[in-house]
Amino acid sequence: MKLKAEFVTSVSRWGDLRADARPEIALLGRSNVGKSSLINALTERRNLAKTSSTPGKTQLLNYFIIDDAFYLVDMPGYGYARAAKTSRIEWAKLSQDYLKKSENLRLVLLLIDSRHPGIVSDEAAIDWLADAGIPCYVALTKIDKIKQQEAAAHEKHLRQHHPVLAGIFRTSSETGRGVRELRSFVAAQEWAKVEANPSHTS
Ligand code: GDP
Repeated sequence: MKLKAEFVTSVSRWGDLRADARPEIALLGRSNVGKSSLINALTERRNLAKTSSTPGKTQLLNYFIIDDAFYLVDMPGYGYARAAKTSRIEWAKLSQDYLKKSENLRLVLLLIDSRHPGIVSDEAAIDWLADAGIPCYVALTKIDKIKQQEAAAHEKHLRQHHPVLAGIFRTSSETGRGVRELRSFVAAQEWAKVEANPSHTS
């Protein structure tokens, strides 16, 4: 199965966007988690999302249209190291506006580096999304870097502490592991049937 993917637009301020009613799946994670690499792997495009080794520069929502049916929204990376001591998630304003106001957001796929379990900002992000009523799956990234048992332990920790999580994928953009499964999940659009953000008004 292939995903047809095209870049649509970048948005730097909430309100600049004239989105249509197609459902949105947002990809979110700390800077350098491997988000761009995973978007490229999912869409089998070398450079659709720009990868870089310098974390946390641009604060943009990047919209990609997939199969002419839904949007994949690449969100700014959050909290890099500095924020690790706070138990509160520190969103970019744009991210917060988007998560609170988007009427078409159906699912967040939260990327967590499989090598670093228990990072406070990741845990806080899961809790924040749960409080906001936004369904969340986790993708444990860079799974090629750790042993199976470590991945299993990380997954168990997440399930125990966050029973609200709808599911967990293990992915490697390097080896392709788990990418096909995630692609099928995204393409099938079951996630698009559930209303996220039931409480938001605008
Ligand atoms: P982003 O900042 O979240 O978009 O992260 P990038 O996709 O730019 O990746 C950050 C760094 O992690 C780059 O050096 C990538 O080559 C590396 N990386 C991304 N995905 C993987 C993966 O699955 N396995 C390994 N080993 N490295 C990865």
